[in-house]
Amino acid sequence: MRQQLDDLLSAASERLAAARNVADVEDLRVEFLGRKGKLTGILKGLGRLSPAERPLAGKLTNEVKETLTGKFDEYRQRLATASRAADLAAGAVDVTLPGRRAFGGHTHPVTTVIGDITDIFVRLGFAVARGPEVELDYYNFEALNIPADHPARQMQDTFYIADDVVLRTHTSPVQVRVMEKQPPPVAVIVPGKVYRCDSDLTHTPMFHQVEGLLVDDNVTFADLKGVLSTFLHEFFSPEIGVRFRPSYFPFTEPSAEVDIACVICGGRGCRVCSETGWLEVLGCGMVDPAVYGFVGYDPEKVTGFAFGMGVERLAMLRYGIDDLRLFFANDLRFLEQF
Ligand SMILES: [Zn+2]
Repeated sequence: MRQQLDDLLSAASERLAAARNVADVEDLRVEFLGRKGKLTGILKGLGRLSPAERPLAGKLTNEVKETLTGKFDEYRQRLATASRAADLAAGAVDVTLPGRRAFGGHTHPVTTVIGDITDIFVRLGFAVARGPEVELDYYNFEALNIPADHPARQMQDTFYIADDVVLRTHTSPVQVRVMEKQPPPVAVIVPGKVYRCDSDLTHTPMFHQVEGLLVDDNVTFADLKGVLSTFLHEFFSPEIGVRFRPSYFPFTEPSAEVDIACVICGGRGCRVCSETGWLEVLGCGMVDPAVYGFVGYDPEKVTGFAFGMGVERLAMLRYGIDDLRLFFANDLRFLEQF
């Protein structure tokens, strides 16, 4: 019996020494000290001993049980501590390593320019209006006095979705939508995307415009000149030269194109301005009375002016960019310069 207990003790010690984790220790505890374990097996043999031998054998068995229980506890604790230390080491952070540089984003130059244009007109008392990019032919052409045979309607310029639905070719249809919804006075600008079937150095199939409309009693061409000159002086510089040239648009009469003195050569003449010293930046004019007929305004009572400008064109002139497509290539080397 004593031999059996000694063997049990040394076998358990040996196996415990090989245990790698807490679960191993628990398995061994069940194997040696569990209800159906090896020690229980030896205890059952007590019944075969003589009554004189039993007390000593019982005492020995209890001693072995206590020793083993102590050993199991000791190993369990030791392995738990080791495993926690290993976890901590695996998740350790070296606070002395250099940090990763955070790149701050910024707005796209087109967004910046739209924001600057909007700020100037809002200070002049204009509200911001928006309209759909998928537009009815009626709003994009007809209600703007653009007849069916006008060149702007030809397929090479316009993306048609259906016979009477287009991707808007300008932001002007929003003028009509705004006037339909509210009586005069109206003073709005309309920033947004427009679409044309065109792609080269100075054209992309999608680009941005800002449209403007002011309708009230006694609005004159002098008001138009005052508002647009103020805008251009604020946007480019207070000293820049501005001139108005007669032009033609179907929905304004009279119409004008607006030039600024060339930002490259200062007006002396260069390749960018085709040696003229001037750069075209805006189209504008007094709203054609025919347009008021489409929205129920009385052309005898109100007058007004409208204007439109290409956002990318203004951005190219302000930043000295010579290829429109750079705005949409999403090349970080380009975008990070702003
Ligand atoms: Zn020039």
